[in-house]
Amino acid sequence: MPEIIRIALAGNPNSGKSSLFNKLTGAHARVGNFPGITVSKKEATITRNGKQVHIVDLPGTYSLTAYSPEELVARSYIIDEKPDLVVVVVDAANLERNLYLAVQLMEIGVPIVLALNMMDVAIARGLKIDHEKLGELLGVKVTPTVARSSQGLDRLMDNVLDTVANGNGWQPREISYGADLDECIEEIIEILLQDGIETNKYPARWVAIKVLEKDGQIRGMIDRNTQAGPRINKLVDQVSNHIRTTLDDEPEGIVSDYRYGFITSVVKQSVSSDLEDRRTITDVTDKILLNRLFGPIFLLMIVYAIYQFVFWASEPPVALFEMFFDWFGRTAEAIIPPGLLQSLIVSGIIDGVGGVLGFVPLIFFMFFAIAILEDSGYMARIAFIMDRVLRTFGLHGNSVLSLIVAGGISGGCAVPGVMAARTLKDPKERLATILVAPLMNCGAKLPVYAMLIAAFFMKYEAQMMFLLTLIAWAMALLAARILRWTILKGSHTPFIMELPPYRLPTLTGLLIHTWDRTWQYIRKAGTIVLGISILIWAMMTFPGLPEDKKLSFETRRVQVTEAFLSGPGKGVIADEDALAEFQLLKTEFGDGGRLNLKETNHSFSALAPAIMLLEKGEPLPPDLKRYQTTARGYLNWSREINLLEEEQAKTKLRNSLGGRMGVGLQYVTDPLGFDWQVNIALVGGFAAKEVILSTLGTAYSLGEVNIDESEPLSAKIARTPGWSALGGFTLLLFVMLYAPCFVTLVTIGRETRSLKWPLFAVTYTTILAYIVALIVAQTGQLLGLGV
Ligand code: GDP
Ligand code: MG
Repeated sequence: MPEIIRIALAGNPNSGKSSLFNKLTGAHARVGNFPGITVSKKEATITRNGKQVHIVDLPGTYSLTAYSPEELVARSYIIDEKPDLVVVVVDAANLERNLYLAVQLMEIGVPIVLALNMMDVAIARGLKIDHEKLGELLGVKVTPTVARSSQGLDRLMDNVLDTVANGNGWQPREISYGADLDECIEEIIEILLQDGIETNKYPARWVAIKVLEKDGQIRGMIDRNTQAGPRINKLVDQVSNHIRTTLDDEPEGIVSDYRYGFITSVVKQSVSSDLEDRRTITDVTDKILLNRLFGPIFLLMIVYAIYQFVFWASEPPVALFEMFFDWFGRTAEAIIPPGLLQSLIVSGIIDGVGGVLGFVPLIFFMFFAIAILEDSGYMARIAFIMDRVLRTFGLHGNSVLSLIVAGGISGGCAVPGVMAARTLKDPKERLATILVAPLMNCGAKLPVYAMLIAAFFMKYEAQMMFLLTLIAWAMALLAARILRWTILKGSHTPFIMELPPYRLPTLTGLLIHTWDRTWQYIRKAGTIVLGISILIWAMMTFPGLPEDKKLSFETRRVQVTEAFLSGPGKGVIADEDALAEFQLLKTEFGDGGRLNLKETNHSFSALAPAIMLLEKGEPLPPDLKRYQTTARGYLNWSREINLLEEEQAKTKLRNSLGGRMGVGLQYVTDPLGFDWQVNIALVGGFAAKEVILSTLGTAYSLGEVNIDESEPLSAKIARTPGWSALGGFTLLLFVMLYAPCFVTLVTIGRETRSLKWPLFAVTYTTILAYIVALIVAQTGQLLGLGV
């Protein structure tokens, strides 16, 4: 082993050579120039395992042909200075290209070790490099490194010292360049050896190859030799002609082909990549899924299957959530004394926000399905398939992503949809996209749809969602076409899109993506929707009934009670006090409590069960027969009182601020068949579409008197007179199309830097919604539907 080991670092530019040099040498580098040339030279001497190691950082090069000063410097240094070893720094993430230099160095014969640098990048790209196998195939030691963080440097230096101590010294590696060139190379070598052209300095085979590669410096050297020069040139001319006629190429092309072929085979055997496997699967899959005919059919099938799945999977948990909020409402009602606070909590918050939260499972499964589409790489294909359609309607391929993000497959959000339009360069295509994106079925409209579908189209859940999806797209495309024909006239810009490889989604990834969005929905319900629900509850509660109206209701109640107490039905209930006492006991009995009666009210104990039986429509047993008249009388009385209270609650609701507003709007919405509760819900929906649901929940809860028989909003609506499937469908369409929510409008304003476009968006969508709803409602009525 020499006293001072001299090594050089070689590598492609940006392979991390300087980083490696700096990490190895610390701050001890000397910076100068390579002799006679302005290519800077850095060198340093370090001590390693008691050995002095002199390291030179060679200029970065891709090759060792004399094409550039750097290449010439690098190879002259190696040939003239004959270092003990060259560390070839290769970028592991671009192995094939980087090994080209390594192979050329091996052909010169200098001992090398490979620093397989940028391993972190390679791993991140899904490359699996078997570095031992690679070293075995190349016959050199290979060390994975991450120069930036000094990883693997100790092992690298161990390998350097080991190779210098135990290696075979300079040994040119022979690579075959095919029968034609190999033969020619042998003949050239023979001439070189005969005439002794610098063969002690340059390996003969290397010179022969450089001649074939038309290397300027070597050719000059050959030409200067009057003996060998002409003979070698003649050989080269012959083989060149042969290559030209047989392969339509030049010898240098063949040399580089074979060198790359060698490298490719080495890499194929030592490197595997999930990426490459995915590519091939991807190619095959895309042949089918992007087929002009089958692609769109498959897309529709996928969307339909998703809706089937989402409703199927979410039905049991949605029912469970409904039961929970139901229980929650009753419990709150039992704990909180009747009054404003109870009304706020039960009708305002639980029936309002609870209605929105009840759909969390549905939202969850929808987002889950969307996450599968995204993570698998299919989402990008949808854009590709839809591009052809969009073009026809004056939109751009990039618009698809906007529309899908906004809810092209139900469950998106218009806010990121509008922002995604940034990828569109053409201002008019971009504006058209921004303006139609809010027509899509965002995740906030979804629970409103789900509730109305449950009320009127229970048997056709998935079919309805599918239909609504098609309608939303049709409307968006139509609106885009009209915009592009009128105020946004302009040309079409070309669309180039990269299709990422298909991937098998991981469950963790899916769950994270799903939960992120579901949590946003929940948070929105707990913040914006909650706030607006309280506001709307207040609007629907105040200013309450005027005193005279309250008094008139009170008078009617007294009249009904007096009529009962003076009639033949009163039986054992003697007076008002007895009535109140009995009511209390009956409630207790109804709740399954044991009757604890005073001696005087002994007969009550028989009356209560008699009433219960009558209520259920069952015959009375003989011992209760004598209470029949009283039980009937009591039931009539309580029915009348209930009706009165309901009327009072409804009158109060209509008299409230929100009620008056909703009633006022009926002039506008009457032709659409919306009642005043819907009107106020739609006004609330300007703030956030979920509010439509919570407002209806509150409105139908406030008008309700017998909350004992609580039921989901969809059931309440379904049995409310005036509602029908036609009304439900009209409302579905209106909710889909009318005004973007407030946050979307703010986003449109920000994205377009104007006030004009958000205002335009509200106006045109609301007009569109009104026209479509009007056509549907009127046509439906003409056809005799919805009665
Ligand atoms: P040179 O042109 O061959 O001298 O390469 P440099 O040492 O200048 O490195 C090029 C870039 O790659 C720099 O930004 C380095 O920080 C970075 N780099 C070097 N080694 C590594 C590595 O192992 N991993 C990563 N991720 N980056 C590296
Ligand atoms: Mg550098």
